[in-house]
Amino acid sequence: MTSITAPTPGWTAAADVVIVGSGVAGLTAALHARRTGRTVLLVTKGRVEEGSTRWAQGGIAAALADDDTPEEHLHDTLVAGAGLCDVDAVTALVTEGPECVRNLIGLGAHFDLDAAGGLALTREGGHHRDRIAHAGGDATGAEISRALVAAVALDPGIELIEGALVLDLLRDADGGAQGVTLHVMGQGQRDGVGAALAPIVVLATGGFGQVFAQTTNPAVATGDGVALALRAGAEVADLEFVQFHPTVMWLGPRARGQQPLVSEAVRGEGAHLLDAAGERFMIDVHPMAELAPRDVVARAIKRRMMETGEPHVWLDARMFGDRMWEERFPTILASCRAHGFDPVTELIPVAPASHYASGGVLTDLDGRTSIPGLFACGEVACTGVHGANRLASNSLLEGLVFAARIGQALAGDTRTARPAPPLSSDAPLISGSERRRLQQAMSDDVSVIRSAESLARVRHVLTDLASGAKGVPCTDDWETTNLHTVAQVLVAHARMREETRGSHWREDFPERDDERWRVRLVSHLTEYGDIDSRHMPVQGGLTHGAH
Ligand SMILES: Cc1cc2nc3c(=O)[nH]c(=O)nc-3n(C[C@H](O)[C@H](O)[C@H](O)COP(=O)(O)OP(=O)(O)OC[C@H]3O[C@@H](n4cnc5c(N)ncnc54)[C@H](O)[C@@H]3O)c2cc1C
Repeated sequence: MTSITAPTPGWTAAADVVIVGSGVAGLTAALHARRTGRTVLLVTKGRVEEGSTRWAQGGIAAALADDDTPEEHLHDTLVAGAGLCDVDAVTALVTEGPECVRNLIGLGAHFDLDAAGGLALTREGGHHRDRIAHAGGDATGAEISRALVAAVALDPGIELIEGALVLDLLRDADGGAQGVTLHVMGQGQRDGVGAALAPIVVLATGGFGQVFAQTTNPAVATGDGVALALRAGAEVADLEFVQFHPTVMWLGPRARGQQPLVSEAVRGEGAHLLDAAGERFMIDVHPMAELAPRDVVARAIKRRMMETGEPHVWLDARMFGDRMWEERFPTILASCRAHGFDPVTELIPVAPASHYASGGVLTDLDGRTSIPGLFACGEVACTGVHGANRLASNSLLEGLVFAARIGQALAGDTRTARPAPPLSSDAPLISGSERRRLQQAMSDDVSVIRSAESLARVRHVLTDLASGAKGVPCTDDWETTNLHTVAQVLVAHARMREETRGSHWREDFPERDDERWRVRLVSHLTEYGDIDSRHMPVQGGLTHGAH
């Protein structure tokens, strides 16, 4: 197998479990792994609170209301997933979800309450009940992160290493996980490339929004976990299904990287989308209008932008007034004002941007990947709960539920530490200076509108980029190489899937084709670096997730 690791590690650390990433999934996995009595090394490439989790605004979905049931949550999730959800995974999500949210509250997370002192629940696109719990108005992720970080900090059995960029998986003679190589900057004795050894490795590295030029994802979301897993020979699935958030603040034609999100909850509370002529165009597109599933809204916006020649549409939430904006959406209000729009009196310019990776490293219901000892949870994983499109606010919940499931699976796991030979470093790196070109090509040709022609164009760019970086590799080179690896498989899947489904829209195959394509695409890299793909049958019937 190939690796991108620099020569021989200069230092080592060891524990029973290495967890990579400190978002909702990694932090929850760490707490649950501790319940089995194991020591945990939690490594994260930025500071502990960095990642998508702290940016989550809308909230966390769970059937917590008296008039709601897990069955209804299951139904809404399967409909959004457009026939590709794994029904067993969704069942685990919706039935175990409410207890996981209650556990989070028990841990000290403060959710917003209604006048009667119960959880204040709201509704988002695709949900037929009020089931989104939120905190600090629109600062749900920050509160979840705060509570989990505090709980982790109290546990002496969890050692945290920040500023540690994980590079590759270390494996024993039987191919099982035995730790990771990582590059640490300026942490005293642990400086430069080292090895974190453990017979169990949990990937919780989040998504890969940075594969695209405009995204809601923070800078750390460079798909490192998916790329690392691919290099180690693990299977990944559903990479073609990238959700584009319909309402991301449009900050001008030159804006790159993370862009501010205007949460779906703003539409949930009654905001309208208007085109350049002031027309509320979603009414003619879908019976749920602005609350239609995200892919429907994103495509309708993109279509309207193409028809009018405008680079964005408008979001009108002036009807909220001062007080509601300040109480319910203080973060978005501040963000709008910081960028020069006052949503109390003005329209907000919005356009779709990459937001969520429904696919990732293929796991079973206990977070196990195809490599012994390697687990994955959160956005990096593909448990099958999202199918072709994620239902809003199901991802924080997925992180909680499946991280807890990994903890339970570890209770019965008997893997032990074994020697892992050093990795070779023969694979060429892509220079960090090529990152913008890669991202722009992906945004231009693999976003909400795809075709054989656009995919051939982007493939050409990706092949052209595959020349090596010169000199000693830096973080930018490593991350750009990971973005490139993810992009290659994403594009390969998008080319193969000759239909339109969920968040994958092929202009040249505009219909959903259940006969040919009600299968999941699963791929791994061969030892020569070629992409080897297979079709995986979908778990569960077509009674749910119909059009
Ligand atoms: C703006 C925004 C709003 C959102 N709103 C919602 C919402 O309202 N509800 C909802 O359910 N979901 C929402 N989401 C999605 C949700 O936030 C994410 O899917 C979820 O937080 C992912 O959690 P995670 O733990 O898997 O990953 P993250 O929280 O992204 O954490 C990943 C961690 O891995 C670390 N890492 C990555 N690569 C490496 C490496 N090579 N070495 C070491 N560490 C590494 C990162 O530094 C980070 O600590 C939103 C996302 C965004 C961006």
